[in-house]
Amino acid sequence: MDDIAAPITREKVRALTLKWADDPDSVAEIEHDGFNDDQQSGGFAFQCDRGLLVYGFDGFSRSSRYPGDDASRRDEVEQYWHQSQQRNWAVAAVQEFRDDDAGYAAWLDANPDAYVVNISRNYYTSDARLHRADCRTLTAQVSRGVGLTGPYVKICAAYLNELEQWMADQVGKPILWCGTCAPDSLPRQSALPVSRVAPEPTGLTVPAVPAGGRSMFSGPVAGSAVVEAWAAEYIRFEHRPAWQEQLRTEIRSHCRQLERSDGDVLHATFFGAKHPRADVENLVLYYIDSFSGVGRDGIRVEYGGPDAPPGPDGDYQYCYRYSLAPSSDDFVHRQQVRPLASFDWTDLKDKTLAHIWLALARRRLLGEVNAAERVLAPEASFAVKIELRPPHGGRTRVNADLMKAVFDGVICAFQAQTSTKDLAETMARLAKFLQITPEEVEQLLCDQEGAVIGSVPRLVYPRGAGVQWNPSDDRCFAGELLPAEMEPGGTCWAIKGELVEIDYGSTDSH
Ligand SMILES: [Zn+2]
Repeated sequence: MDDIAAPITREKVRALTLKWADDPDSVAEIEHDGFNDDQQSGGFAFQCDRGLLVYGFDGFSRSSRYPGDDASRRDEVEQYWHQSQQRNWAVAAVQEFRDDDAGYAAWLDANPDAYVVNISRNYYTSDARLHRADCRTLTAQVSRGVGLTGPYVKICAAYLNELEQWMADQVGKPILWCGTCAPDSLPRQSALPVSRVAPEPTGLTVPAVPAGGRSMFSGPVAGSAVVEAWAAEYIRFEHRPAWQEQLRTEIRSHCRQLERSDGDVLHATFFGAKHPRADVENLVLYYIDSFSGVGRDGIRVEYGGPDAPPGPDGDYQYCYRYSLAPSSDDFVHRQQVRPLASFDWTDLKDKTLAHIWLALARRRLLGEVNAAERVLAPEASFAVKIELRPPHGGRTRVNADLMKAVFDGVICAFQAQTSTKDLAETMARLAKFLQITPEEVEQLLCDQEGAVIGSVPRLVYPRGAGVQWNPSDDRCFAGELLPAEMEPGGTCWAIKGELVEIDYGSTDSH
């Protein structure tokens, strides 16, 4: 599929679909207000006789070859939108909030140590300012509560170097520090240096990255079923330099060539200093590939620790390892400390994050799950082990997208929310989507009993025309999703699994 130059418009997507179609009369838009209006994660969708084309405002796109019926096309658009929101929220180092006051206010609330660029919608830099997220000029604006992301949009990131990279990529000019919150170490009103090479991340003890990066690739060699790659920096989700692009391509193609037998599970391990908010599954799976072939009979991911094993030609900061293992194997680098929660087969209306949350949170409130007395400490990490069972005649095919939805749904089901900000709107939107009452949404969301992964101010909040879930998946250091045998006569998907606290300590068992 061809690329479209930004900005993505309805007419450009229509034109691209017309080029693809055999019969121009078959081209029709699939209108979806929420998706069409979400400036960050939305886009436009068109169908034609050759299939469905979804094109996002962020430049990502997806086409599918089978036209399907109206309902399945709409489902596909919603699925794309959901994944796009997940990707943009959980993955992007830099968040832009544009016409999304609620999303920005929530982000600011959750990230007081981060940084914000306040800039006009068209990225005119002369009156743009860089702030610390706790700057009182920003918090004062939020308490006034209007036009936070209208004429001036907010570009937000946890680390300064990520915003520098954004300035270099997007505006190509330095942006001045705010006079109120400029750090003492910098002269007031000094321009932030702009460079194309990401400098050492602020606040992280990561050795300096050589310009241009350095990487090494190995395997799979005859007789071994391991793909390993070493790198001076972790592979980014977007804005990847050429060397990362190449390393990623090598990992993808070699993992696809791994010689698997039926029932083999893909075991993916990430080694290296982990950004505190990054989640392991994103780093080792989602940023790289869907792993839908090699991972179809199950995926197991884990964090191998901050030190990468030595590479063939020296030391590196990061290492990626992919191997095949029997499903009966376990995590290699983590020891179980104590069980946090477990649940037996639970029927699902659908495999979406929200439906998984609903099914499990309901059982949690009914006391039908085993939940530990003591909530997980804020610095502790945990593992998730899940089996997914298809309805009769179905088959579970695991991939990175499915894994993400399932893990997030399960983790959310064992968290609770404490803030009532925008709660009524969240309740209304979720109630409509899940076809339950707003009161039940509130009860499930806010009940602290058995929320073993802990409560957060806002577990879910309105975003665009939908909702944004914000589980503590950055503390999930290991996880597996395995397909289970279908139940004869079973009419729906079902899920079973456990959450355990794991030890972050020793990594020397390999
Ligand atoms: Zn400021």
